[in-house]
Amino acid sequence: MVNALGPVAVIVIAASRLPRDARAPWYLLALGIFANGTAVVPNTIVSQVLKTDTYPTVADAFYLLFYPALLAGIALMIRRWPTRLIRPAILDAATITSGISVLAWVYAIAPAMQDHDYTAFEQLVRLAYPVGDLALIFLALILVRSGDASGSRRARWGITPPWLATGLLCFLGGDLFWLLVGDHTIPDWVTRGIDLFYFAAFVTLGYAVRHAAVTDTRRANALPRPPGIPLMSMLLLALLMAPAVLVMQMSHGAFRHGGAIAIGSTMMSVLVVTRLTILLRFVERQTEQVRELARRDELTGLPNRRAWTDELPRALEQARQSGEPVSVCMVDLDRFKLFNDTRGHQAGDRLLKEAAAAWLSPLRQSDILARYGGEEFIVLLPGTDVAEACAIMERLRTVTPFEQTFSAGVAAWDRAETSEELIARADIALYEAKHTGRDRIVQAPRSMGAEHGSTPADQTASTPSH
Ligand code: GH3
Ligand code: MG
Ligand code: MG
Repeated sequence: MVNALGPVAVIVIAASRLPRDARAPWYLLALGIFANGTAVVPNTIVSQVLKTDTYPTVADAFYLLFYPALLAGIALMIRRWPTRLIRPAILDAATITSGISVLAWVYAIAPAMQDHDYTAFEQLVRLAYPVGDLALIFLALILVRSGDASGSRRARWGITPPWLATGLLCFLGGDLFWLLVGDHTIPDWVTRGIDLFYFAAFVTLGYAVRHAAVTDTRRANALPRPPGIPLMSMLLLALLMAPAVLVMQMSHGAFRHGGAIAIGSTMMSVLVVTRLTILLRFVERQTEQVRELARRDELTGLPNRRAWTDELPRALEQARQSGEPVSVCMVDLDRFKLFNDTRGHQAGDRLLKEAAAAWLSPLRQSDILARYGGEEFIVLLPGTDVAEACAIMERLRTVTPFEQTFSAGVAAWDRAETSEELIARADIALYEAKHTGRDRIVQAPRSMGAEHGSTPADQTASTPSH
């Protein structure tokens, strides 16, 4: 009994230092440990003082209070953790517990229930212990499975959940020994040895509270851990429990507990499929995010070269079908190296960002401005011929920030060339713009294979506007 009072005191004192709304789970835990640890008092009174031999006694109420108190306490705690972390953990824990329950039912609970010396109420009390233990297994598995995928091993769970799980496992260890001992009379030192398990359980549960607040805040940003080989093996083992029991029974020629086996395997199948569905959704969402990241330039937020290169053939195909023109413009900031050298790289980055944002405003929804690389940008203008494209580029020049200038090469699709040839022509025009003094827009030469004219005005250059 003294064994339990120490941890109870530790939990109550540590919990009273937590934020008010985080205390309830720990008080429930303390209540459970207190009831279970002090059950020995009513037990002794009943057996030694009152010398009655009835079952159940008031001591059972003390012992059993441990289970609902812990269940409620840990459920309250878990409720504060993010759903994305806790939902898969609950499903995994439920699947594994179902597998163990099938075993427990067939080999421990059902045979014990066959004993007709007990009344229905007595049977119910006897059943409450193994059911409570199964609930503890369920909780311990949730706590173990609720780890965070990010960060170091220590940061993965925080400290509280693994200590709580260890505490529950120690308690289960004690219960398991009592189960093995059964009705045999045992020497005193064995009883004390088993009591050590309960003591270790109470101390461990008491230790867990000391890091509760830290864990709670850390969990807000946690990511669920992907299921690894150990979890998959445990799930498979749980699923195989029902057929294994079935095979055992068939080999003994006696087929019983069909209902329990059917319920167990149905539950496990539903749980595993639900779990896989959640996992697939999660993977799909992540793939979508990765795809989106791979197509976006980090600095400016514009589509990157890859996204643009994918988009161009699509735009050409659309233009082919609709008969409308389409133009591309290569844009390169003038003397940007000098800008970086004189104002610093960070100012250079800011210019790239602000220029990208400013250039978007004169463009239409259907136009695509992308960062082609470094200080080079490229614009796709569907439904726009080369003259209109040049006019749009002029508007872009007027909104460029930091009094910065750019040179641009503009080419309209000749309706025959490939996207690479089109870009190459725009690039030649850009090269021309640079070599004829920068700060200007140059139309690309008409291609050799042009079907019908973009604009005949080859190599026309606009003059500097500022
Ligand atoms: P030109 O007028 O001939 O285009 O001269 P330029 O200095 O703009 O061209 P150059 O190709 O010599 O230099 C491009 C510079 O762009 C060099 C590089 O440091 C800078 N740059 C490329 N990417 C970034 C970036 O993401 N951030 C910053 N700040 N600078 C960049
Ligand atoms: Mg440049
Ligand atoms: Mg350049």
